[in-house]
Amino acid sequence: MGSVAGREEKREEKEVFAAYLLKNRLKRSEQREVILDAFLHTARHLSVDDLLQIVQKKRRDIGRTTVYRTLKLLREAGLASELDLHGETRFELDYNRAHHDHFICSSCSDIFEFSSPEIERLQDEIAADLGFKIEGHRHQILGLCRRCQAKSESRR
Ligand SMILES: [Zn+2]
Ligand SMILES: [Zn+2]
Repeated sequence: MGSVAGREEKREEKEVFAAYLLKNRLKRSEQREVILDAFLHTARHLSVDDLLQIVQKKRRDIGRTTVYRTLKLLREAGLASELDLHGETRFELDYNRAHHDHFICSSCSDIFEFSSPEIERLQDEIAADLGFKIEGHRHQILGLCRRCQAKSESRR
């Protein structure tokens, strides 16, 4: 693997993916590398089509199915997590990142992240009361972002 200086960032993530492919006897392909690289270096909460657009700027021959399948692999490898946004799946980098939840604008689909130790603590307490073992959770708070509220107000 001739690594070029300056491209060393995200090396750990790349190693995690390589190890996952090896463990599952999947082959490393140049297309998967391109998709992984694009995913690691772009904004959060991408849809399959968002990532497809970015990837196709580098490689026209990469299709939607390949992008979709690679994102699924990234999720299984523990690098990405999935988020359901009005029925559309978004993917975000989920490696060495602190847990967070999301506010989602139902008008423009903008996503705002938040984390609250207070909320986490409360839900642990409630779970303990119920004797419930939490395996994971998702908070998605829906509403209108500041910009969309301003827009709807000026229309009145
Ligand atoms: Zn909005
Ligand atoms: Zn997020």
